[in-house]
Amino acid sequence: MRDFSYLRAASAEAARQAAALPGAMLLAGGTTLIDLAKCGVAEPDTLVDISHLKGLDRIEIGERGATIGALARMGHVADHADIKSRFPAVSEALWQAASAQIRNMATIGGNLMQRTRCAYFRDPSNFSACNKRQPGSGCSAIGGVTRGHAVLGASEACIAMYPGDLATALVAFDAIAHLGERRISVDDFFLLPGATPDREHAIEAGEMITAIEIPASAAARRSTYLKVRDRQSYEFAAASAAVGLELEADGRTIRDLRVALGGVATKPWRARAVEDALKGKVLEPDAVRTASLLAVESAVDHGANHYKIELAPRVVARAILKLGDAA
Ligand code: FAD
Ligand code: SF4
Repeated sequence: MRDFSYLRAASAEAARQAAALPGAMLLAGGTTLIDLAKCGVAEPDTLVDISHLKGLDRIEIGERGATIGALARMGHVADHADIKSRFPAVSEALWQAASAQIRNMATIGGNLMQRTRCAYFRDPSNFSACNKRQPGSGCSAIGGVTRGHAVLGASEACIAMYPGDLATALVAFDAIAHLGERRISVDDFFLLPGATPDREHAIEAGEMITAIEIPASAAARRSTYLKVRDRQSYEFAAASAAVGLELEADGRTIRDLRVALGGVATKPWRARAVEDALKGKVLEPDAVRTASLLAVESAVDHGANHYKIELAPRVVARAILKLGDAA
């Protein structure tokens, strides 16, 4: 047993101050943190419980978009009528994540902060060789079992795949994270591993996520999240795509397209090359399939994860064509 203290924060401000102290960590739904503490990756001295704080679970929808409080539960957001109708990819990404029990506990802020599922990172018997867990110790995955690892955005220090679904949809629609007063795009919130894979998020000590803002757009309104995985539910993505589409009045020409990939990169991965190749073009299956290949133009495999390089463009193309059929 490791002793730790439990602190029930009286306010968001008190939580931020307490969490800035060395060894302190915020506790929301606990569905990630308790797992990580059990396998020894997280070793908090103090758990600062924010799960009960009032006001941080609000979902506000206006003309300009949605603002979702950091403590809103995944299940609640997935089922929200306005999120479903105006941001279907966000609802679908959440709905296909984890299990009903987890979605009922887990929060939006905690979801963004979830860590990689790389088995070496979580394996207590392997504590000497993981740069993410212990900087400078090496990477057991390189040359090891890589079926679930990233083909985009990896470095020589780490090839761990970012596992979340929600953030993939958020990145596609230019969502913004509120860290108290500070604002940062969700894209920039996630860091590439580079030489410092232990640092995954652009969040400083003493900051916490207070809300996520998703700007309204026609592409977000006509959007979908396609998740391909080893089994139908309760599984992380082998490859996924959040796609949004806006057509011109002729119903055939692409005015706006948003594409982000999940399950294949070290962070939620915006595929701007695919978007740029198709904007202004007629939505037509061959053109979509050809452009979707650009999603993985810089991909590098590590053996067993090679299949992701073939799978990801197919997932992107299928998602775009599905939206086109629905148009
Ligand atoms: P917690 O566990 O309470 O916290 C997680 C981390 O975030 C901690 O480090 C905590 O300090 C920090 N934190 C919490 N709130 C804040 C805040 N407001 N500001 C700053 N830091 C904060 N996710 C998917 O996307 N897709 C899946 O398919 C999926 N499958 C899963 C399957 C299983 C079996 C499990 C256990 C999890 C799965 N998840 C999946 C991950 C799940 O979505 C996350 O565990 C959950 O969203 C975390 O939210 P939480 O509120 O429980 O966070
Ligand atoms: Fe650790 Fe990253 Fe290597 Fe996995 S891929 S063992 S998380 S350094």
